[in-house]
Amino acid sequence: MGLFARRKTIFVDSDILVIGGGMAGCGATYESRYWGRDLKIVCVEKANIERSGAVAQGLYAINCYMGMQWDENQPEDHVRYARNDLMGLVREDLGYDIARHVDSTVHKFEEWGLPIMKDPETGRYQREGKWQIMIHGESYKPIVAEAARKAATEVYNRIMVTHLLTDATKLNRVAGAVGFNVRTGDFYVFRSKAVIVCAGGASHIFKPRAVGEGMGRTWYAPWSSASAYALPILVGAKMTQMENRIVLTRFKDGYGPVGAYFLHLKTYTENAYGEEYESKWYEHTKELVGDYVNRHPVPTCLRNHALLEEVKAGRGPIRMVTKEAFQDPHKETVGWENFLGMTISQAVVWASQNTDPKYTNPELTTSEPYVMGSHATCSGAWASGPADCAPSDYQWGYNRMMTVDGLFGAGDTIGGTAHKFSSGSFTEGRIAGKAAVNYVNDLGNERPEVSEAEYRGLEKVIFQPLETYRIGRNEIVAGTVSPSYILPIHGLQRLEKVMDEYVGGISAHYTTNEPMLDRGLELLGMLKEDLAHLGAEDLHQLQRAWELHHRVLASEAVTRHTMYRTETRWPGYYYRADHPKLDDKNWHCFTLSRYDRETGEWELEKAPVYHIVD
Ligand SMILES: Cc1cc2nc3c(=O)[nH]c(=O)nc-3n(C[C@H](O)[C@H](O)[C@H](O)COP(=O)(O)OP(=O)(O)OC[C@H]3O[C@@H](n4cnc5c(N)ncnc54)[C@H](O)[C@@H]3O)c2cc1C
Repeated sequence: MGLFARRKTIFVDSDILVIGGGMAGCGATYESRYWGRDLKIVCVEKANIERSGAVAQGLYAINCYMGMQWDENQPEDHVRYARNDLMGLVREDLGYDIARHVDSTVHKFEEWGLPIMKDPETGRYQREGKWQIMIHGESYKPIVAEAARKAATEVYNRIMVTHLLTDATKLNRVAGAVGFNVRTGDFYVFRSKAVIVCAGGASHIFKPRAVGEGMGRTWYAPWSSASAYALPILVGAKMTQMENRIVLTRFKDGYGPVGAYFLHLKTYTENAYGEEYESKWYEHTKELVGDYVNRHPVPTCLRNHALLEEVKAGRGPIRMVTKEAFQDPHKETVGWENFLGMTISQAVVWASQNTDPKYTNPELTTSEPYVMGSHATCSGAWASGPADCAPSDYQWGYNRMMTVDGLFGAGDTIGGTAHKFSSGSFTEGRIAGKAAVNYVNDLGNERPEVSEAEYRGLEKVIFQPLETYRIGRNEIVAGTVSPSYILPIHGLQRLEKVMDEYVGGISAHYTTNEPMLDRGLELLGMLKEDLAHLGAEDLHQLQRAWELHHRVLASEAVTRHTMYRTETRWPGYYYRADHPKLDDKNWHCFTLSRYDRETGEWELEKAPVYHIVD
């Protein structure tokens, strides 16, 4: 009773509420202030924006920069690149919109103090590849967060947002959000005219390669817990391309990035016998995907595919040939420094395994699948496009507004726009922020109404795991096993096992089919029933409990989308064994889903893909 008696309810009113202060959230907060000088702009974050999100530990490269000032690339080029990499399916209007604004974002980062490497001869930014520029990025996130902190009316750190609120008089309109402070346990009710969800992607929905004491070691940030998807899904927002999970080829066990190695150091891969293998799989891949195999650059999923097939054929492990490049002292330095900005642990793993890349070619492997909207993948919410270039089917209101009024999103949250990365996510946040200001201004004096019954009902549900644990802990039969509750870690491991075995994870060689998906949905249904009995021994575990809720709902979306798209569009990301080929005739389209929280039913449909860039 003690904890409950002490709990306060804190009300926060705002014009614009930004959920998640990562790259997109900082961009949204910054730009909302620029256009909405007199508005109340609040940013709420479950960690601390100084070091939160996927960029928390820093980055070594900004992966999306056009270089229009030097005529290096044009926005249309980027649209073609992303379309090609995603096997034809991207929202070109949204991608174009980001690409035309992303350079100005990067220039701001430099103005705010981010050191960007320069080519000593040309004075231009040092390119790592066609789209990437190299940075000294250990402090990337604090630099970006400072801009958001100065722009926000208030930043609330350490608040885990669990649910969105809807308008009492107009159900399809957002009215705010609720959550709790993970340190004090206070209950927060945010009432807002517009909400921008920027809560990152999803790791730990498929079983990771590193388990047991190593389970925190994933490629995508372990704290990316699918809130970006679950929050909008719960209020009925349409989602798109949720089947388009991503699998990464990375250095084994440390997930160290390979981009700089391929692009800058010009290293290459070989099988266990020192043979080039990608060309061997050309005809086989062509059978599956047709002409897509001839595209340049070869789509990311197809490069994974060749590696996976070679390993299945028994010629693994695959290695990165570093021995030649590392003879050059400059390249050797760059190779090691590449890990300093973002994955120091890769260097530690190599040291612990006696791997010096100057003398031993390090192993590569493919990761478990992740769900996100900003990398070489595009799962997320279905959003309205920019007024000047979105086809009418993609326009129903304000730019980046979802299918729920007043609900916006950016970064990993928004679907259909791959390859935005850190700079593109910040840029999309800016675009959403500007649109949200317009939305709020157009509302005038109207304000959505928050129902007390709704937030009090949610309060009970949110804190229930603490109560369940308090009552049930006396019945513990052994260790952590209780007949009355499951702990968040138990639920998480069950989720990961279901997704891994039935929905195309590592142990199933990324392969699934309709009966497997059916069974997966059945098991997810049982898991959902058991979530009502989650027990949390403290506030930290309460946060884990709600992260699990969000992961389970997003996983269900992934499973239903995977079931709906009866083709294998991205071999190397996942395989529908019952529909092994790409099927452009029937599936050159987006998949959309909508969840009805009253009935628990999902509706799926197709949406057209329009090519606005030739
Ligand atoms: C290993 C790795 C390497 C990468 N390499 C590069 C690279 O080299 N170059 C590049 O440009 N990009 C890179 N990226 C991509 C880049 O990090 C992402 O594109 C970008 O961070 C996405 O921005 P976002 O705002 O959508 O998500 P994030 O930056 O992850 O921010 C999400 C925020 O939401 C918060 N949040 C989540 N749930 C809740 C909740 N329920 N309540 C409150 N707050 C919540 C999180 O704490 C976080 O702060 C990399 C990403 C990773 C993981």
